[in-house]
Amino acid sequence: MTSLKTLVAALALGALSLTGVSLTQDAYAQDKGAVGISMPTKSSARWISDGDSMVKEFTARGYQPDLQYAEDDIPNQLAQIENMITKGVKVLVIAAIDGTTLSDALQQAADQGIKVIAYDRLIRDSANVDYYATFDNFQVGVLQAQSIESELDLKNAAGPFNIELFGGSPDDNNAFFFYNGAMSVLQPYIDSGKLVVQSGQMGMDKVGTLRWDGAVAQSRMDNILSAYYTDKKVDAVLSPYDGLSIGILSSLKGVGYGSPDQPFPVVTGQDAEVPSVKSILAGEQRSTIFKDTRELAKVTVGMVDALLGGGTPEINDTTTYDNGVKVVPSYLLKPVSVDKSNWKDVLIGSGYYEESQIN
Ligand code: BGC
Repeated sequence: MTSLKTLVAALALGALSLTGVSLTQDAYAQDKGAVGISMPTKSSARWISDGDSMVKEFTARGYQPDLQYAEDDIPNQLAQIENMITKGVKVLVIAAIDGTTLSDALQQAADQGIKVIAYDRLIRDSANVDYYATFDNFQVGVLQAQSIESELDLKNAAGPFNIELFGGSPDDNNAFFFYNGAMSVLQPYIDSGKLVVQSGQMGMDKVGTLRWDGAVAQSRMDNILSAYYTDKKVDAVLSPYDGLSIGILSSLKGVGYGSPDQPFPVVTGQDAEVPSVKSILAGEQRSTIFKDTRELAKVTVGMVDALLGGGTPEINDTTTYDNGVKVVPSYLLKPVSVDKSNWKDVLIGSGYYEESQIN
C-alpha cells in the first residue's frame, strides 16, 4: 500500500513537473490528515499565539489544521468540536473553556478512533483523553507567590502586611493548581499573622473569577477596597492572570494608589501579555509568569505525530493530573517568573516579542 502510494506520488510529481509546477516537501506530506484545534477565546493574546504556533507546526509536518476559537462560550465550543468530529479529523487538540462539559463529544470521538489531547487545561470527567500537554501549573502559583514573598521581603520583614487573593475561573482545572501552588507559599505567612487577608476571603469558592474576566476582578477589588481598606492599605494582591491584574490595578488607581505616598501593592500576573509587560515597566504590575506557548505547541504537535505514527508520545509526568476518571499522562513545561529585572532577557531574548512591541 505504502509503495503504491509512493508510486502514485512519484508519478504525480513527474506529471506535474512536466507541466512546470513544482511541489514542495510540504505538499508531499499533505495526506497526514486533519487535526481539529479548539481554543477557548481570542480575547487573550496567549491563545492567539498558541493557535498560530500550532497551525504553523502542524502545517510544517504535513497536517491540515482546523483552528477554531469559541469566544468563551461553552455550547459554541461543543458545536465546533462536534463539527470537527463529523468532518473526520484524526486528532482533537482542545483547550477547554469548562473542563467538565465535553464528555459526550469525546465519547463520540473515541468511538470513531479520534485521539484527544488536552491542551494547557485538563479535560475532566472523561476516560477519552489520551494525553495532556501543559506547563507545571502548581509551579506557576508558587512563582507568583514567591514574587510577593521577595518583594515584601517576607522572610525578614516584621510585617504584618495586608494581602488580597484572586483565583482563576472555577471551571478551569488550572485555576486550582495556580491557587494551591500560591497558597503553599503564602499560607504559612497567613498562619503566623505576617500576612493578613483583611477581607477574610480565601479559598477558590470565594476568590474564583468566572471566565477569567478582568471586569469581574475589578469590581470585586472595588468592593474589597471600599469595605475593608478605607483606613488601611493593601500591600499585595495575588492575581493569577494578567487580564485580571489589569482590572485590579484600575480599581487600585481609582482610589488613589500609584502615587508616592500611596504606592501600588505588589500585583502578580500570568502570561506576559503586552499590556502587563508595559505595566511592569511603568512600575504598576510587579511581575508576571511567562509560558512559552511556542514550546507548548511544539510539544503538542510532537505528541500528535508520535500517536499517529504508531509511536509513544514523550511525557514527563504520570501522577499529577487525575481528571476524575484517570490520571492523564502529561508533559509539563517550565514556567518562568518575569519582572523588571529580567523581562528583556526572557521575552526579547527568546524572540517571543520584538522590543518595539513593548517600548
Ligand atoms: C491558562 C493561563 C491563562 C488563563 C486565562 C489558564 O488555563 O493556563 O495561561 O492565563 O487560563 O486564559
